[in-house]
Amino acid sequence: MIVMKFGGTSVEDSTAIDRIAGIVKARLAERPLVVVSAMSKVTDGLLAMAAAAGKGDIDKAVELCHRVRERHFTTAGELLHTGLFTEVHARLQTEFESLEHLLRGIAAVGELTPRTSDYVVSFGEQLSSIVVTAAFTARGLPAILLDARKVIITDSQHGKAIPQVEEISGKLQVHAKPLIANGKVPVMGGFIGSTREGITTTIGRGGSDFSAALAGAGLNAERIEIWTDVDGMKTTDPRICPDAHRIKIISFDEAAELAYFGARVLHPATVLPAIEKNIPVLVLNSRNPSNEGTRIVARTQKSRSLFKAIAAKPRITIIEIVAARMLMAHGFLAKVFEIFDRHKCAIDIVSTSEVSISVTVDSNEAIPAITADLEKLAYVKFSGRQAIICLVGESIRERPGVAAQVFDAMKEINVRMISQGASELNMSFVIEESDVPAAIRTLHARFFNDLDPEVFD
Ligand code: ASP
Ligand code: MG
Repeated sequence: MIVMKFGGTSVEDSTAIDRIAGIVKARLAERPLVVVSAMSKVTDGLLAMAAAAGKGDIDKAVELCHRVRERHFTTAGELLHTGLFTEVHARLQTEFESLEHLLRGIAAVGELTPRTSDYVVSFGEQLSSIVVTAAFTARGLPAILLDARKVIITDSQHGKAIPQVEEISGKLQVHAKPLIANGKVPVMGGFIGSTREGITTTIGRGGSDFSAALAGAGLNAERIEIWTDVDGMKTTDPRICPDAHRIKIISFDEAAELAYFGARVLHPATVLPAIEKNIPVLVLNSRNPSNEGTRIVARTQKSRSLFKAIAAKPRITIIEIVAARMLMAHGFLAKVFEIFDRHKCAIDIVSTSEVSISVTVDSNEAIPAITADLEKLAYVKFSGRQAIICLVGESIRERPGVAAQVFDAMKEINVRMISQGASELNMSFVIEESDVPAAIRTLHARFFNDLDPEVFD
């Protein structure tokens, strides 16, 4: 069996849902279980109505609710013939009555708890899965709605509840496996789950990928398909570098490095449950289903290409700490890091010399407070508007002289800090934000000209 997950833009309207029905139909022989996100922007809308209700603004909450309601009714109407529409209409009606009732309750109390917030946002995936199941049925697919809350068992940390992998696997055997064995196509909302006591939870924004990975791991799927609106992952940002190539295959570790640097396609940590079981995860485009996308696997074979991708992370600040008084006395670094830790400020790159230490941070929020503390120990200087450029590839560790090649290519650009990740999968350096386009184009031209056709398109 396989798991097919469709994100918000793949279910955004009747055209999109009609399209994915065709995609699922083409895979029917592989016995799919389908996971769907809320229709695009609906989760944001639900959070906004919950917030409005929490402030006591019931008029605004209801108005936002009506917009979401219109969208679902319109979509269902466009997708379904009369008989089925009447049935689904009644079903949606009930859902929206509960939602409005809930919002009025929140407004009356004037307080929005994380638990209630989860209940409100859970409507997004519930509604989309109802509409998608009906649309599939109307197109001749043996679809059946599977309530995620019966399957995705979590702890009770609302907003970012932790899925209980063993229990989920057990529930899948009971609630999903028999359906699939009977030739049905279960359609389950992503992102939502419930505690053992049956309280609705959510597993973090963008969590539908995680739901798909949990379902795939629990059912030992042959593969997991993450359907989105781009042709998989690229060697670099095509807006900066129009000749960026599609990456056909990438290791989990490489994809994880890239995600950290802002490649927005999918957060690999969410598909870890699948990777750990050696289940490949494919990133595919529901608007261009014949494109083969990107395959994320536990390990890749050796390739002749040095790098898989180049990413940039802008809006970085360098903080330089010069230990004039203590001259890197024993315990100095510990004190410095303790200050960042105390202000909950994450450090990206660190470089040290005999008398100074430079770090980069990606949030300026805590800088004034951090500076005040650091100045008790050292002189502090900063430079804003910096960017980290990161080259990712598993071959880095096997090839000598990589750094020399990279910095030779960068000789026209002022490189402020350098770091080769401990994982030896990435090489990062810091430059001025305004140099990013030139740096990326130069590096791409240099390192992505002779491409391994097994790895790149
Ligand atoms: N609908 C949820 C969100 O917008 C989950 C998802 O789309 O994966 O965060
Ligand atoms: Mg998503």
